[in-house]
Amino acid sequence: MSNAVVVGGGPNGLAAAITLARGGLDVTVLEAADTVGGGLRSFEAIVPGLVHDHCAAIHPMAVGSPFLATLDTEKLGLRWLSAELDCAHPLDDGSAGVLHRGVDATAAGMGADGGVWRALFGRPVRKFDVLGPMVMDSLIKVPRHPLELGRFGMPTLLPASVLARFFRTPQARALWGGVAAHTFRPLNQPLTSAIGLGIMSAGHRFGWQVAEGGSGRIADAMEKALLELGGKIETGVRVSSIADLPPADVTMFDLDPGAVATICGDRLPDRVSRQLRRFRHGPGAFKVDFAVREGIPWTNPDARRSGTVHLGGDFAEVAATERAIQDGRMPHRPFVLVGQQYLADPGRSVGDIHPVWSYAHVPNGYRGDATEAIIGQIERFAPGFRERIVGYEVCSTTDMPGYNSNYIGGDINTGSKDAIQLMFGPRLTVHPYDLGVPGLYLCSAATPPGPGGHGMCGFHAAERALRKLSV
Ligand SMILES: Cc1cc2nc3c(=O)[nH]c(=O)nc-3n(C[C@H](O)[C@H](O)[C@H](O)COP(=O)(O)OP(=O)(O)OC[C@H]3O[C@@H](n4cnc5c(N)ncnc54)[C@H](O)[C@@H]3O)c2cc1C
Repeated sequence: MSNAVVVGGGPNGLAAAITLARGGLDVTVLEAADTVGGGLRSFEAIVPGLVHDHCAAIHPMAVGSPFLATLDTEKLGLRWLSAELDCAHPLDDGSAGVLHRGVDATAAGMGADGGVWRALFGRPVRKFDVLGPMVMDSLIKVPRHPLELGRFGMPTLLPASVLARFFRTPQARALWGGVAAHTFRPLNQPLTSAIGLGIMSAGHRFGWQVAEGGSGRIADAMEKALLELGGKIETGVRVSSIADLPPADVTMFDLDPGAVATICGDRLPDRVSRQLRRFRHGPGAFKVDFAVREGIPWTNPDARRSGTVHLGGDFAEVAATERAIQDGRMPHRPFVLVGQQYLADPGRSVGDIHPVWSYAHVPNGYRGDATEAIIGQIERFAPGFRERIVGYEVCSTTDMPGYNSNYIGGDINTGSKDAIQLMFGPRLTVHPYDLGVPGLYLCSAATPPGPGGHGMCGFHAAERALRKLSV
């Protein structure tokens, strides 16, 4: 029987392990932390019983993940829940761009921009069941439906700032800018529409759902599936050298590419090692979890019903802050994402105290404290918020790599998603999971299709390894 070792038990490591175990391999996952899950962990904090998500919170890409669709998620204890509204982007005048689950409902609330919204998202959402698997695949493969992918792909090539010009109302422009900013890049650069269009289309198809009981339940479901297949998990094992690993037919790294170069040392060809070490990181995230009595008093009523709220003012302001963090400057008012998962999943709250998840976009390795900047942005659109704070817990940009060494300098996307790295990962090759040595593979979110709790990087890397084993 062939065997496999997977280093790192994030969603991609677990997806790789499950896929390899299904392929008949004897699989062991080695995880540095005390539990598997990586970016999919939840914890009780601030007030006993209050459930917060450590990292990933909102899951349009996971709900639509072709890999997760192969698991009997209900049986494994994973249930998806939605808030009444998916996302709101409030503006200073009290209005907001509002994302409803459906394209028509969203368009109906957009006044003059309803037609553009329908034109942009109507077809991709109707066709998402054929489009999704291609978008979640390596983009350098020959697609099954090239015309459909081409139609969807054309606007993704554009800078988000160019697409923004199609909208006339500040609300629609801001809503688009806030979702496009998930790419953590200056919005005037090519392909900065790609992640936004992907999240938005997946969201309209599946909803911006949360996992009942916390994102950790997604990892729990994957862990159960792996154990049922006979896979083994060893936690508290930090791998620092390939010499520490047992001999294996397949070794998968769910890690940052630079760490893989260090761990593998001279086992990798020099050229590959150099490519992994040159991997570019994106800006950082500074996270604050709050316990808030009676929730956030948003001025805009739709923000009170939205699972996610984006804070950053109008499109121009969001674009300016994203440019600043890329250039290493901390904006006075950074772009802030707020998660109100308890609206979909009231079991996370304790009485009238609710868990609120938030993070600000900051420069990579930012050493300052962004807590006040985050509170200030929330206060800007919800005066009185400060008085409702019962307590808070900070995970700064410099704390982040201590929690998970993949998040270098607070880069939660596992690498800058510039055009080259988004399509290819750390190496310009048609086999982005290969490490240039038979049996060694990279499977983290540094590889296509990139970040999220969907497990698709691990799934594709494992499929590649299984194909190579059978040759
Ligand atoms: C604050 C934050 C908010 C986010 N929000 C969202 C969101 O709302 N929606 C979404 O879809 N995504 C979100 N993400 C991104 C998502 O969490 C990641 O893209 C995803 O977790 C990447 O999965 P992965 O398996 O590639 O790596 P990771 O999840 O990073 O897992 C890697 C694992 O490897 C382990 N490890 C590292 N080094 C070693 C070593 N040397 N030896 C052994 N083990 C090691 C780590 O402990 C970790 O468990 C967010 C991330 C963060 C941090």
